[in-house]
Amino acid sequence: MLPKPIQNFVDLFAKLPSIGPRQATRLAFYIKTLGDAPVADLAKAVDDLRNVKICPQCFFSYLGPKNTCDICNNNQRRKDIIAIVEKETDLISLEKTKKFSGRYLVLGELKKDGVLDSLQKLRLSSLKKMIDKDLGGQAEEIILAMNPTTYGDLNAALILQDLKGRVKKISRLGIGLPTGGEIEFADEDTLGNAIDNRG
Ligand SMILES: [Zn+2]
Repeated sequence: MLPKPIQNFVDLFAKLPSIGPRQATRLAFYIKTLGDAPVADLAKAVDDLRNVKICPQCFFSYLGPKNTCDICNNNQRRKDIIAIVEKETDLISLEKTKKFSGRYLVLGELKKDGVLDSLQKLRLSSLKKMIDKDLGGQAEEIILAMNPTTYGDLNAALILQDLKGRVKKISRLGIGLPTGGEIEFADEDTLGNAIDNRG
């Protein structure tokens, strides 16, 4: 019943997080009303995402031509203090506080059952390799910046076990953050305090 281009759009967009078929249909009809140039801009913005690379060191997104992202490339930032975050949006929230001048590892979204998947294990082992190669086998501090939830706790314990012996101090971000709250949505002051008072 729907014109084919609209049906195609709905089929693709309905698969995206927090967009269902109804929302996707509404979006398709809305975008159609915008006119040619804005629709072309939208299409280009989506297409341009293909140029974004993943940093091989911290796994944050960046646009070339360098081999690593701006954060990993910045020699002013301490290499021996690493914050492990779940999502890129968590990294962005932490950066906004301007309270952290170390490096990151983006681990990928944690499973609720508290088991690390193969990609996360791979990312952790790349961190361990970096610690061995660049930091003489021991990092100064690793901050576990996982959400203060039960599965965040479970995963933090696993990571702690995995990195044992390779770090002098392991701290957990969470003090001051509401239990069950999300780093991504915490305001800058609360998050800034959590960084200052990490333990
Ligand atoms: Zn990086």
